[in-house]
Amino acid sequence: EIVLQTVQAEKVYGKGELETRALKPADIEIEKGVFHAIIGKSGSGKSTLLHILGGLDKPSGGKVYLEGQSMFDLKEKELALLRRRRIGFVFQSFNLLSEHTVLENILMPVHLDKKKEDRAYLEKVLRTLDITNKLPYYPDELSGGERQRVAIARALATKPAILLADEPTGNLDENTGKEVISLLKQSAKEFGQTVVLVTHDMEIAANAERVITISNGEVLK
Ligand code: ADP
Ligand code: ADP
Repeated sequence: EIVLQTVQAEKVYGKGELETRALKPADIEIEKGVFHAIIGKSGSGKSTLLHILGGLDKPSGGKVYLEGQSMFDLKEKELALLRRRRIGFVFQSFNLLSEHTVLENILMPVHLDKKKEDRAYLEKVLRTLDITNKLPYYPDELSGGERQRVAIARALATKPAILLADEPTGNLDENTGKEVISLLKQSAKEFGQTVVLVTHDMEIAANAERVITISNGEVLK
């Protein structure tokens, strides 16, 4: 089952001499329940591709389907809603709200959607990521690895169709990074969560069941 699919999706920045083909027309299929990695060097187009997959950035051409819905044919408001409901994001910089506790951060996307939280599921997520005892703290009171585990829990909380992680270990030291990826992998497995992880690090990518390589804007088969 394909959750997310691109059909000849491409991205060109600038015009004339300044033109950069950041993503050449790419056909990608992201399979349900599978842990994917996108690997490429700095400047190869990884972030461009992830932003297109996540509905954050409109491709210059081609289509992107999330659960059969052509994302960029939606109105901006509908797309924003779809992103909030169906896509979980984890970024290098954590992006937690510092004025709110860990628990508030994790529940925020669920409550924004006026959904009632699935407590049993959330408790399992918190246990898997080993942050159950961090709930009353503020993000500033946590280590980098703990903050990223909280960001992962927040992304999982809405049970998204897909979790997109952009260099999630970029701000962590090597061992903490490995630990966080291992916990992400464990949670993905436990909850059958579809994941797309972007990284320049071969060792990190080796955790994935499927690796997609991008080089000079070209997605290699
Ligand atoms: P990566 O994430 O692999 O480092 P990016 O997707 O950030 O690669 O960038 C791919 C290429 O597109 C690079 O040559 C980069 O300079 C260029 N690029 C990225 N974003 C922009 C932008 N907003 N305007 C112009 N060029 C850009
Ligand atoms: P950095 O690589 O500088 O740490 P991030 O990985 O946090 O930056 O973010 C990468 C890109 O994603 C940036 O262009 C940023 O604006 C965008 N971004 C970060 N967080 C969000 C978010 N919650 N929603 C939408 N876009 C975001």
